[in-house]
Amino acid sequence: MLKTKLVCFLLLSAHALFVIAGSPSGGEEVSLTIKDSGYSLSMNRTTGSVSYLGKDENLLADANEPLFRIRFRNEDGTPYIYTATDARTCTFVKRGKRLTFAYSDFPDRVFQVLVSVGADKKDGLFHFSMKVDTDDQIEWMEYPCVSVKETTSEDEGILWPYNEGGFFSDASKHYYIEPEYPSQGNYGMYPGMVLTPFIAQVTHKGGVYFGAHDPLHNTRQVDFRKTAEGIHLQLRLYPGAEKGSYVSGEETVLGCFEGNWYDAADIYRHYFDSHHKGFVRLEENKSLPKWYFEPYVVLTYCVRGHHDMDEMSPNKLFPYVNAMPIIEDFTRQTGAPVMALLMHWEGTAPWAPPYVWPPYGGEDALREFVNRMHGIGGEVGVYCSGMGWTQKSNLVDYDKSQAFKDGHLEKYMCLAPDGSLPLSRICTGQRSGYDLCPSTDFTRRTLTEEMKKIRSSGVAYIQMMDQNHGGTPYMCYSHDHGHPAVPGKWESEAANELYEQVLKENPGLVLGCESAAAEPFIPKILFSDNRCGLNFNGGQPVPLYSYIYHEYVTNFMGNNVCGDGFVDCRQTPEIFQYRLAYSFLAGDFLTVVINDEGVILWAWGQRDFSPAYRPDREASLTLIKRLTEWRKACPEYLQFGRTKHPLPFECGQSQIFTNMGPVNVPDVLSTSYEHKGKTVHFLVNWRNTEVNVRSSAFVGREYSFRRGAERMACLNGSILLPPLSVIAVY
Ligand SMILES: [Zn+2]
Repeated sequence: MLKTKLVCFLLLSAHALFVIAGSPSGGEEVSLTIKDSGYSLSMNRTTGSVSYLGKDENLLADANEPLFRIRFRNEDGTPYIYTATDARTCTFVKRGKRLTFAYSDFPDRVFQVLVSVGADKKDGLFHFSMKVDTDDQIEWMEYPCVSVKETTSEDEGILWPYNEGGFFSDASKHYYIEPEYPSQGNYGMYPGMVLTPFIAQVTHKGGVYFGAHDPLHNTRQVDFRKTAEGIHLQLRLYPGAEKGSYVSGEETVLGCFEGNWYDAADIYRHYFDSHHKGFVRLEENKSLPKWYFEPYVVLTYCVRGHHDMDEMSPNKLFPYVNAMPIIEDFTRQTGAPVMALLMHWEGTAPWAPPYVWPPYGGEDALREFVNRMHGIGGEVGVYCSGMGWTQKSNLVDYDKSQAFKDGHLEKYMCLAPDGSLPLSRICTGQRSGYDLCPSTDFTRRTLTEEMKKIRSSGVAYIQMMDQNHGGTPYMCYSHDHGHPAVPGKWESEAANELYEQVLKENPGLVLGCESAAAEPFIPKILFSDNRCGLNFNGGQPVPLYSYIYHEYVTNFMGNNVCGDGFVDCRQTPEIFQYRLAYSFLAGDFLTVVINDEGVILWAWGQRDFSPAYRPDREASLTLIKRLTEWRKACPEYLQFGRTKHPLPFECGQSQIFTNMGPVNVPDVLSTSYEHKGKTVHFLVNWRNTEVNVRSSAFVGREYSFRRGAERMACLNGSILLPPLSVIAVY
């Protein structure tokens, strides 16, 4: 196999000697230009390094990065990396709008690499493909390797589809983590916590867009890191193929744009709009239950202990029906129906997958609560804890070691590259155990059976894939599971088969994960714990996910776990109101975390329960009530609408005090939605003070404080928003 490919490769190399094209500048570079936009890409003709990208100015920082890096694995799992600069021979050929670089003669190993790039005038992007001729196991391929220049302004920075979208104006505040087995949930993996496979840099001089327009949803790392030269944008393909040669498609794209982060997102959205097979618009989705289309507020709490590492004795919200007065009171005050989303409800141990059933206190106790909730128009959901195996709980007396041993269950776990089985890195405070491989029958059967049991109690929603951010299983390198011995898209394909099976067996059930569902899972994971506050850890949240996928999925605001660690809530006492406004505008259901006395908390998992350390209850409930009224009145926009760029306006700014320093955010947040040709711009003042917004775009428009209320004309471009108010501008 290798020999045949080697011959072809040599023929191409020989041919290349006759067709080498010179650089337009006459130097050591060869270039491609996109005719309509004028954007050019240049590569060093000796090494293949991408040296220039832009129009009037080079937007790249480092002209000498190797064109590619590849990590292989030995038989024993040992990794070794080669880069383009390791090749002792590099030749190139230019044919029309395509450059191809061929690399060979690497020290110690026999393999060849071809990297090809073409200019596509249809999408205005440069498309890269890569071919590796080898007998070895490829783990990942990073191509092209590029870095951008550092920026200094607040409105310049990196757009990263992490969690639901983050903007990082100071790359040095981003903590880069190298993905290695055993997995961590917070890796910059797609699908995973990276929900959409692209990254972009926004600058005043022009933006750089780097992504994968890949209908096969191959596994990728999408991340960035500060280097001595600038900011490295990292896009690695995990081919997930059997040992040996691999040829990619042309899905890796690099290009330029002008504008802000919405303009970068438009490039991906344009691609997605024509490649969303299997995605059903919510307005046409007949498989979803009625509650999904009502303005529910998710009220989340635990029934044992007070935080996720507490003693697990029952609290005041157990038996489950004890929560009824608090829930009814909440509905009375806000006008919102409630979904009670339970934690620490498992009869096995809290956060101890895969076994959860029966519920703590027995099936009848949970069923009685579900019935009582249905009686007041409410619903019940439960958190699970993903695709993991719990050997032993650290919270309660629960030990499955003997069952593991007796059933030889090690054969179903995600294995390390060397075949070993170290303990998982997931939820180590709560449990010790392993990651379950999604490809095995045991995983599929066990999770399917547990979901069916939960559903039998009338539970409407299961956050089955909590701890599996984005809905993604973890990395497995086993040689014995029937999948390639490296991570790849086989993992998400196996997970999607599992989700399909669960949904087929439980019609009307809605599944969720931690963060929002990554793109390949959206059609099956349609309600997830989407906490915007996480991106204050080094950056600030932007509603990128909603901008791309809003018509196809509705999530909820999430339990904000860790959120009080990333934001100083004492210094930023209105942060909960900010999050409410943000999630409402993103189209998500609002979420309130409460303690066992119904007190609103900043975040799930917080440890400080002193009366001075909690959100302003009256302000929060007032805002929830107003947001719920709008949500009831305008589902065609807030749930079904297509997101548009918000109208530009000026207003005061507030500081959010984060663990990385203060971040400026506007006092009024805004989003625009279009539905059947009509557009409405929603503006929310999340502050406890009135805020004036000004824009020439408002002049001559009408606005209202309630749908159906009398509309007022904005004559001078200035609108005064009272505290905690919402307006629609038409
Ligand atoms: Zn496996």
